[in-house]
Amino acid sequence: MSDDCLFCKIVSGTIPADIVYQDDRILAFSDINPQAPTHVLIIPKRHMATVDEVRSEHAALLGELFVTASKIAEDQGLRQGGYRMVVNCGEGAGQSVFHVHMHLLGGRPMAWPPG
Ligand code: AMP
Ligand code: ZN
Repeated sequence: MSDDCLFCKIVSGTIPADIVYQDDRILAFSDINPQAPTHVLIIPKRHMATVDEVRSEHAALLGELFVTASKIAEDQGLRQGGYRMVVNCGEGAGQSVFHVHMHLLGGRPMAWPPG
C-alpha cells in the first residue's frame, strides 16, 4: 500500500470504483474514461509502481491478471469479437497511474499498431 497511490486508495475503498471482480490478490474495476465499450483495469492489490519493479517472485501474481482478464472477457461476451490487454510502463508509453495495471479493452474493432 502506498499512501499517495490512487489505485491503492481504490483497493482500500477510500476512493469508490465500479468493481467488476476481486479476490484476495486481484481487483478489477471499470476505467473512469473508457476507450472501448468494455474497458476494465485489472490490478494486483499489493502496490508495485511499474513493470520495471517486476521480479520472478511476482510471476504467479501477475499471471493472475491474465486469468482474470480471460474470465472477465468471457463474462462480458468479448471472446467472439476479440479483446486487447495493454500494460503501459513509464510516462513515455502512456502510464499515468503508477500502480501496475492491465487494461482489458473490447467491444469494438482494434487497430494495430496502437500508436
Ligand atoms: P495508464 O494511463 O495506463 O496509467 O492508465 C490509467 C488509467 O486509469 C486511465 O485509463 C484512466 O482513465 C484510469 N483512471 C484514472 N483514475 C481512475 C479512477 N478513479 N477510477 C477508474 N479509472 C481511473
Ligand atoms: Zn498503489
